Amino acid sequence: MEMATSSNQVALAVDIGGTKLAAGLVDKAGELLWSSADLTLAARSAEDIFGTLSRLLDEALKASARMDLTPIVVGAGCGGPMAKEGRDVSPLNIPSWRKFPLKGALQKSSGLETFVDNDAKAIALAEAWVGAAKGTKNFIGMVVSTGVGGGLVVDGKLLGGQAGNAGHIGHVIVEPEGANCVCGAKGCLEAEVSGLSIQRRIGMPAKFASLDERKRAGCLTGRAIACSANLLDLKLAVIGGSVALGFGSVFFASAQRELDRLACLDFSFGSKVVPAALGENAPLIGAAAVGFSGLGIVMLGD
Ligand SMILES: [Zn+2]
Repeated sequence: MEMATSSNQVALAVDIGGTKLAAGLVDKAGELLWSSADLTLAARSAEDIFGTLSRLLDEALKASARMDLTPIVVGAGCGGPMAKEGRDVSPLNIPSWRKFPLKGALQKSSGLETFVDNDAKAIALAEAWVGAAKGTKNFIGMVVSTGVGGGLVVDGKLLGGQAGNAGHIGHVIVEPEGANCVCGAKGCLEAEVSGLSIQRRIGMPAKFASLDERKRAGCLTGRAIACSANLLDLKLAVIGGSVALGFGSVFFASAQRELDRLACLDFSFGSKVVPAALGENAPLIGAAAVGFSGLGIVMLGD
């Protein structure tokens, strides 16, 4: 990884998540030095939500001055879908943001060069940079939480695709004729194991799920990973998010068992699934990685 000489340079990281907005200051070693968050209320207007984000940016800039840090870039992770490079975003969980010009708005508000990417891809970058996939050139980073998302690192590069949406493992089919998915298909991983889907199945929040339900979620996740490992020649899946980490070892053991059963090609056999290392800091560290790599500073796989 290339490091610039100035040690007090930081990225101003922005996370636009399902339940909150957050801003942070992250240094070039991937350490989160300061952060602040505010609840996202989905019913608020587009301007209200960006107003809150601007206030968090101001707080971050003031904190950086106090701490003698120099922000050199803004990096943001945001729910999809989005147009290429996040020029406009339409996160499913923020109904008032449809084709919202996030990149330009952040750039104007901060005065800094700005890079935006999908939040799950940002988390994959964070795990590759300083987390459980450090030093790995081929893996999938996943979030199994309220929704299910992912990002693919192949040959040391975060895959983009036509519009930047590569890695949507939540919409790999794991149960033919399974539950209806928000995307219009049936039996997608997200429709079977996301926190919201599990709540719909069991009639209470996912944290109250039975042992069998936890095993089932792990098994179906392992199935989707096996498809990805066979398709893309991967040997590692790193999973974060409240459902996966909350279900814990039962979830991961079931995922590994199903992966062992279905990843049978010479190159995919022996693939591993492990918990994410960065926990709740992953979205902000990932957003910073989006910013630094936009400037060419974080080089994965080097
Ligand atoms: Zn779907």
